[in-house]
Amino acid sequence: MKQILLYTFISFIAVHFSASAQKTVINKITDDVISVSPGKRQLHSLGWPNGIINSVAVKTNDGIVLIDTQNSPANAKLIKNTVIDYFSDSTFTYIINTHGHSAHSGGNCIFDQNRIVAHTNSADEIKNYDDLFLGQTVEYLRKKIYYNSNVLDTITNEGSVSDSINDAIDMYKFYEADLINNYRVRYPDLTFDEEMTLTPGNKTIELSYMGKGHGNADILVYIKEDKTLCTGNLFHLGSYQAEEMPSFYFHRTNDIDHWIETLSRFLENHDNVDYVISTHGKKPFKRENIVFINEYCKAVRNAVQQAKSEGTSIETIQDTEYFDELFNKYSNVVRTNSTVKEMHARNISIIWRNIE
Ligand SMILES: [Zn+2]
Repeated sequence: MKQILLYTFISFIAVHFSASAQKTVINKITDDVISVSPGKRQLHSLGWPNGIINSVAVKTNDGIVLIDTQNSPANAKLIKNTVIDYFSDSTFTYIINTHGHSAHSGGNCIFDQNRIVAHTNSADEIKNYDDLFLGQTVEYLRKKIYYNSNVLDTITNEGSVSDSINDAIDMYKFYEADLINNYRVRYPDLTFDEEMTLTPGNKTIELSYMGKGHGNADILVYIKEDKTLCTGNLFHLGSYQAEEMPSFYFHRTNDIDHWIETLSRFLENHDNVDYVISTHGKKPFKRENIVFINEYCKAVRNAVQQAKSEGTSIETIQDTEYFDELFNKYSNVVRTNSTVKEMHARNISIIWRNIE
């Protein structure tokens, strides 16, 4: 029994120390652009399954532009301080939400002096997701506080073990207080429908609406001078084997035609895109990934339309072999592993339902 207890404490300490050692992870993209994510443990402690929530910060000579505000005010504060330290600049000019889901807008309230920019549809998303997210998280945090307080009660002497448990309790209480007492849903105050260009200082930031698919309010954010594209959640979340596929969901509305329109226009106007950053992705993307997504959407749309008019079965086109030519052409950016095959079959069902 003693051994089991001891082992539990040791693994707890290891986890906690790595958390404090790496609170944020910074990736330098260009001299003026970085992506910042809270450390894995920081996100896991809030029950976030994915381990990465990238916010992107752009330094302009009129202050900082921040793209996406994390899943909670606490993590937004963490990111905000990291960005201020990194650029030695505490002025923020625009805050952009790539859409209204919680991991992208949950920390909006930390930027109460700044304009929040997003697609018109994001307000509904922010409302729905915050209602859901807040309730679940508070309950989760309370369980954690209760559990750790019980563990603390079993410790008889002061020392590093009780210190680290106390730190953990403080951290959970910090989140809990943040959410219960200070958390105010902050809606965007500058919205647009199709396209908008912001010109803070020396930078040009182009926003384009993608259409419904992942959610109802997803946009592309392009930082022209740095040739950097932020794609939010448009690529698949939660599946590292299929990040390069579009993020479509069965029970959500889909407007694949709008995706094709936006992607085609973007690619037509931008020959050189050096960096593509997604909010939850592990791998860096390139322009070729965007080209593939566009070609894939076109192929899926046409195949569904043709199959419906010719009476071909849905199962025939749900097989990735039917799209061999396309997948072979883009084998440098996508591999047809089992997750991609599964996702493809599902995409066909989604588009089948959405196209006449
Ligand atoms: Zn999302």
